[in-house]
Amino acid sequence: MYRQPVLKNRRTLLERAEKFISDIYFTDCNLRGRLYGDSCPLESIASHLSAERIPFAEAVEQDFSPYSPGDTFGPTWWTCWFRVTLTIPESWRGKEVHLLWESDGEAMVWRDGQPVQGLTKEGEKTSYILTECLKEEDSHSVTLYVELACNGLFGAGHGSMIAAPDPNKKYSVQKAELVVFNRDTRELLTDFEMLVDIVKQLGEGEQRGYQALFTVNEMVNLCDPADPNTFSKAHSLAHKFFTQRNGQSQHTVHAMGHCHIDSAWLWPYDETIRKCGRSWVTVIRLMESNPEFVFTCSQAQQFHWVKSCYPGLFSQIQHYVKNGRFIPVGGTWVEMDGNLPSGESMVRQFLEGQRFFHQEFGIYCKEFWLPDTFGYSAQLPQIMQGSGISNFLTQKLSWNLVNVFPHSTFFWEGLDGSHVLTHFPPGNSYEMKGKVEDLVNTVRNNKDKGRANHSAALFGFGDGGGGPTQLMLDRLKRVQDTDGLPKVQMSSPDKLFSQLRAESALLCTWTGELFLELHNGTYTTQAEIKRGNRQCEALLHDIEVVSSLALWRDKAFRYPSDQIRELWRLLLLNQFHDVIPGSCIEMVVEDALGYYKDIRSIGGRLLRDALRALGSKEQEVVSAAVFNSLPWERNEVIELQDGAGQSGLALVRVPSCGLAAVKVTQPVAPVSVTVQADGTVLMENGILRTIVNKDGSLASLYLVSASREAISDDCCGNQFVMFDDIPLYWDAWDVMDYHLQTRKPVLEVVQPAQVVSSGGLRGSISFTLRISDRSTITQEIVLDALCPYIKFNTQVNWAESHKFLKVEFPVQVRSPNATYEIQFGHVQRPTHRNTSWDWAKFEVWGHKWADLSEHGFGVALLNDCKYGHSVYKNTMTLSLLRAPKAPDANADMGTHHFTYAIMPHTGSFQDASVIQHAYNLNFPLRSTQCCADTMPWSAFSVGSPAVILETIKRSEEKNALVVRLYESYGSSVTTTLYTTLPLREAWHCDLLERPDSLRPAAVTSAGITLNFSPFQIVSLLLFL
Ligand SMILES: [Zn+2]
Repeated sequence: MYRQPVLKNRRTLLERAEKFISDIYFTDCNLRGRLYGDSCPLESIASHLSAERIPFAEAVEQDFSPYSPGDTFGPTWWTCWFRVTLTIPESWRGKEVHLLWESDGEAMVWRDGQPVQGLTKEGEKTSYILTECLKEEDSHSVTLYVELACNGLFGAGHGSMIAAPDPNKKYSVQKAELVVFNRDTRELLTDFEMLVDIVKQLGEGEQRGYQALFTVNEMVNLCDPADPNTFSKAHSLAHKFFTQRNGQSQHTVHAMGHCHIDSAWLWPYDETIRKCGRSWVTVIRLMESNPEFVFTCSQAQQFHWVKSCYPGLFSQIQHYVKNGRFIPVGGTWVEMDGNLPSGESMVRQFLEGQRFFHQEFGIYCKEFWLPDTFGYSAQLPQIMQGSGISNFLTQKLSWNLVNVFPHSTFFWEGLDGSHVLTHFPPGNSYEMKGKVEDLVNTVRNNKDKGRANHSAALFGFGDGGGGPTQLMLDRLKRVQDTDGLPKVQMSSPDKLFSQLRAESALLCTWTGELFLELHNGTYTTQAEIKRGNRQCEALLHDIEVVSSLALWRDKAFRYPSDQIRELWRLLLLNQFHDVIPGSCIEMVVEDALGYYKDIRSIGGRLLRDALRALGSKEQEVVSAAVFNSLPWERNEVIELQDGAGQSGLALVRVPSCGLAAVKVTQPVAPVSVTVQADGTVLMENGILRTIVNKDGSLASLYLVSASREAISDDCCGNQFVMFDDIPLYWDAWDVMDYHLQTRKPVLEVVQPAQVVSSGGLRGSISFTLRISDRSTITQEIVLDALCPYIKFNTQVNWAESHKFLKVEFPVQVRSPNATYEIQFGHVQRPTHRNTSWDWAKFEVWGHKWADLSEHGFGVALLNDCKYGHSVYKNTMTLSLLRAPKAPDANADMGTHHFTYAIMPHTGSFQDASVIQHAYNLNFPLRSTQCCADTMPWSAFSVGSPAVILETIKRSEEKNALVVRLYESYGSSVTTTLYTTLPLREAWHCDLLERPDSLRPAAVTSAGITLNFSPFQIVSLLLFL
């Protein structure tokens, strides 16, 4: 059937076909050149420039002045509104007519007061379809508004994508006109493009590629671009090729439209709201004309934004959600970072997300969706399962720098043994284009060939690109079942995971964390955001505990559910995977710090109100009191303000989850501080004895009860070290292994160690070191009576560039593994570099503590707002500050405050209560007042120290209290939750607070009996 080519030469045929559809070469005579027919100018364009993002109704009231394409406007982050009037020529009857709009920036078309479509050159969206076939009765004269944001899809980086934004960029509209769009040409171009791609992708090794080659060659023979009557023959040939079907065993690709929108990154939160509006309205337009099109959409926060700012669009979305085509996925409030949020924060991501989806759409998501996050905690499978989710989709581990992750589809087993079915789309992208290449990669890269015969392909431009295009849909439609390519079906996460689960017998299991071997600087970058997160997590915890107890103690007290939810939502938003990691621009940092400020000020007021309700009645004699939100008794030195505003120290004893009046007591063993002849300072409290050198380093740290020195021979503890920190590209994100080769101790003493508090309840000394001529460290080393750890209250004035500050403790402990706290538990990681998997973990994350223990003895390093750790051999290192310059040129510049602590101990870290002491460091006792005659009282306590009562809150349904406990040692244990509250009944519930009607809790007169397996999380509804 084919006309015989003269040369047996693949190249000439292939390039001939390529030139036939080229948009660069031969457009005067090729098919591409015929895509558009006649054009005509717009009747008028007028513009109004606004510094603010204003709503449509306000914009149209402004003064507009004439605009000509090519005129520039700006600067960055401003908005230019255009009023466009146009008249379609009568002679175009029967034609498809587009407004062709090529501009910088990201635009939204408004028609009749409603947003109708996004326009973004970077997202291949430059046409607004005015009519698919102009009819006589159609209105030929139209007025549109175009809202154009002065920023690109990826913000406005100065010179490179991740460089700090250029605030002075200018923008312009290059082309704005009416055109006749030749749909038949577009269809034939798509046929050609797909065939050419098949030739290229299948290569010379497969005969199917040659069949495509001769098909496309014959199509060129048949097709005369100047004569559309010849198109149908060419199209028929293509159709014949595309409909030659596969055998039954072929791999199935589940195509799903997607638009990964970062909730803030290289642009501020406010612009994200418009990105969502522009992208999703474009998706709705595609749904109207493509009944098979399915779109997956994550992040409840973004739906919430669209609901508030684009109510009309939101109701259209609700319609398509009901039809099962616009599919909310993920179940979380935002796509949060997978490492740094606390256990309770992760629970709240799901609680807020799933409840939102249920309220607005009547559904709960069945899959967790986190394609673009920098590692995944080993605790996530249990939290997913507890939130009604048993499937997980991501692909970020394909970014690993060192090791290739061995699976595409597998069971992921979490810390407690929970399993979730996990899928990494093998095409390694969540922004596919529906091209042959995407399909071929999906099959070729599948690491579970023969085990899993289904894969996801997520297609659509992310961020400002506006999601999928008609062209992507047309591509996928052509090759649904084409011999030589995988089968393609428009699908949903539910269909994909159902298929995978139905055929899961051969799937492998991966146990423990999914550690990303890249972006390890994100545990440290933007220290103020990390500190805000940690402190606000503690504050919200305390507000909920105190408010829950106040609800019971004071009948007049109103639990501030709505305010607490708003504060949680701000905290959860800042946990987005480019905010808490610190990989965002300065504007986002300012927004994020502003939200923490709101949480602290509003939260501080809520906490004071609740404490007042808990503690004292008015007109009674009051005394200073202390509230303890943690589930164990605490006996600590605290600073208290007296009535005259003077602060002083007091040793207080407060029962678990309870309140006590401050009584003056003396410690059994006071702290002593002695300046020795050589200028070093000896501090001891009967538990620890330490010798501090003039430069603030520890010459000795001695655990008295064990007669053990904790610091390694000939070394010093508390040694500050600086590193050069210049990654390969991702500045704020990456710290590379080679930075370790540049270690320089900080040795220059500005102010040698001097005594600040000479003992009694507290001994402390302070000193100042110079890091460079721009940066200094001032530290107070504190030893309190009865305290088993030494605190280092640190202030750093930091003005470095591409440097990394850490502190080291070389300790006398030998162990192949160190332990790090994670969400509701801990993990072990190697202290050696045997294999590539070991050495790739040169910088790891942990929460409130890390511990290095051998049998019978160990040392723990606690912190109050740091997340970057490493333990190599016997040196424990805490990462303190970085100084990247992109995407925030001023990241981390300024003054920082943080505290860490060192705690040598006998026995295991579990037996030594390291976990509890790390909580104590992070959850300060709260000063309040109570009636002078108040006896110390406790609302809750737990029988076993292995079990931690993490959360006490009012249930979302407002009819009960929720308590959440977890087993923290990694042990199986049966214990009792004691309460002095008048408990009527208690039920087990899931993390969404849905009671398990089959599992009433065993309430006895003593309390509630509970069984735990290692690291198990248990949530209960308590009815009082
Ligand atoms: Zn992202």
